[in-house]
Amino acid sequence: AAARKAEAEVAPSSGKPPVTKDSIINLDHGDPTMYEAFWRGGAGERATIVIPGWQTMSYFSDVGSLCWFLEPGFEREVRRLHRLVGNAVADGYHVLVGTGSTQLFQAALYALSPPGPSAPMSVVSPAPYYSSYPAVTDFLKSGLYRWAGDAKMFDGDTYVELVCSPSNPDGGIREAVLKSGDGVAVHDLAYYWPQYTPITSAAAHDIMLFTVSKCTGHAGTRLGWVHTNFVPNHLKFEQILAQCDWFFWHRWALVKDRAVAQKMSKFIELNTIGVSKDSQLRAAKILKAITDGYDRAPAAAVAGDDDDDSSSRLFHFARRKMVSRWAKLRAAVAASGIFTLPDELPGHCTFANETVSAYPPFAWLRCGKEGVDDLEGYLRERKIISRGGGKFGADGRVVRISMLDTDEAFAIFVDRLAAMN
Ligand code: PMP
Repeated sequence: AAARKAEAEVAPSSGKPPVTKDSIINLDHGDPTMYEAFWRGGAGERATIVIPGWQTMSYFSDVGSLCWFLEPGFEREVRRLHRLVGNAVADGYHVLVGTGSTQLFQAALYALSPPGPSAPMSVVSPAPYYSSYPAVTDFLKSGLYRWAGDAKMFDGDTYVELVCSPSNPDGGIREAVLKSGDGVAVHDLAYYWPQYTPITSAAAHDIMLFTVSKCTGHAGTRLGWVHTNFVPNHLKFEQILAQCDWFFWHRWALVKDRAVAQKMSKFIELNTIGVSKDSQLRAAKILKAITDGYDRAPAAAVAGDDDDDSSSRLFHFARRKMVSRWAKLRAAVAASGIFTLPDELPGHCTFANETVSAYPPFAWLRCGKEGVDDLEGYLRERKIISRGGGKFGADGRVVRISMLDTDEAFAIFVDRLAAMN
């Protein structure tokens, strides 16, 4: 009977195995399991959806719209969340959905590559850069674009600069370092949420990538989104069009602001024929639960109040966690004496309406101990898996450590770190 019952139910996988005091602690990936405790509370019920067998069957979500596979409910909740947080201007931008922001990053490279035969476009980012940028750019050996390394060392004309702010791996606030006329910046704002950094203004860049993974912790839904209203240089024919009649100009203006959005949408059509509707509906419900939570208890009204009930307010829950984890990490680093961390960066957060420090999702941990030139290897011998500086265009005496794992794994990690000397 038990076997029949198990067969009748489709249970989700349990994810990562639990850790014990002697386990290998893997903090290589930024797997946001830290958020599970929040969603296990009342918020989890409010984010539940049921999809009957006859729903979400068609390929299409919104036939006739630029992003025909975008669920209108998901788009609505994305815009609503940005209005609540104030981290990005959403009005006037096209919203596209992707299978994680990883797919949208590739769609952006495809859309921004110059048309016609030419040398591959260079893709750069200032070191230390997110380790997936070179890997994802080059794994298919595309003729359209290729990884060209550290933006600060780049000397060329046609490029895409990836601007990750707050930065993965080091948490710094970044702006584009290249300014050439033919270059384009793609802003990866995966971590521009109030639990990680003060929200100082509503970002309004040409192409902005976001992901559910690091905002709500639902990396497994594989959903990202992009805001764009971008027109590449080769479409800027205003001077020519100024001589054309009004009607033609008007139509052109409508078409041209869709140029990059349309090409990104085409990439996703060719790559995966759209994006899972089931995931979009679930993500819409999750984002709705967050925004609704703040409708019930607005952010600024409780700023600084440590006794508030954060069970319905995700960013408050997550920020409190980050504050506590960073305090424990800094204490462990002080106890050990062989490590250093980047300084805390405070700023005024318009969302919380108070001055707060940044609490990056990764610790960029440096070791000053004599003879430790391969910090990743040094930590691995002590059963801690991290990602070495070399993968980010930095040196081997620094590693990236995820701050978003489970409480249990994090507690064992700081204990082990404190004892190293
Ligand atoms: N950008 C950055 C800076 C990231 O750190 C990550 C995830 N580690 C991603 C993008 C990819 O996120 P997604 O899960 O949406 O593909």
